Amino acid sequence: PILENDLKAAIRTIPDYPKPGVLFRDITTLLGDARAFRRTVDEMVQPWAGMKIDKVAGIEARGFILGGAVAHQVSAGFVPIRKKGKLPHKRVSIAYSLEYGLDEMEMHEDAVVANERVILVDDLIATGGTAEGAVKLLQKLGAEVVAACFVIDLPDLGGADKLRALGVQVRTLLTFE
Ligand code: IMP
Repeated sequence: PILENDLKAAIRTIPDYPKPGVLFRDITTLLGDARAFRRTVDEMVQPWAGMKIDKVAGIEARGFILGGAVAHQVSAGFVPIRKKGKLPHKRVSIAYSLEYGLDEMEMHEDAVVANERVILVDDLIATGGTAEGAVKLLQKLGAEVVAACFVIDLPDLGGADKLRALGVQVRTLLTFE
């Protein structure tokens, strides 16, 4: 898998960040590599090229960078899904599980309308708690979440299956153990 190896080589791994024992996958090196960044965006949306997509929703913060590029690529609007307290207009919110405890994410209530076709984007899926919250928020507003795309999957943590259970296709470009 040439693509997978190329992209993996562009990702930096930081041991013991943000805490001891964690291997953090840092995509800022991939974003800074013009060729790898373009390949990543092209490949993320490849199955939906030419299909009607109304909105791309990106999860704060790395999902904004990738999602903005993906939205441009498929000629869709962009919708930010943000941490609680950041959005100025009327919001819908949902609690989601983190490794320790709960947090909340929010969207503007008019950011998508019923039956719009949406692709969700983030850099990495681990347990799937974050993406599952985002899908539920979009579905609460009546969106049809066509797919969720990530650069990195940590398959041992089972996140992709959580999204498939919600009827969402999952696209990931590479895996780490
Ligand atoms: P999950 O909710 O367990 O699937 O965790 C995924 C969320 O945590 C995403 O928003 C990721 O950006 C972030 N995340 C977790 N681990 C990493 C990592 O190693 N690198 C970059 N982001 C990570």
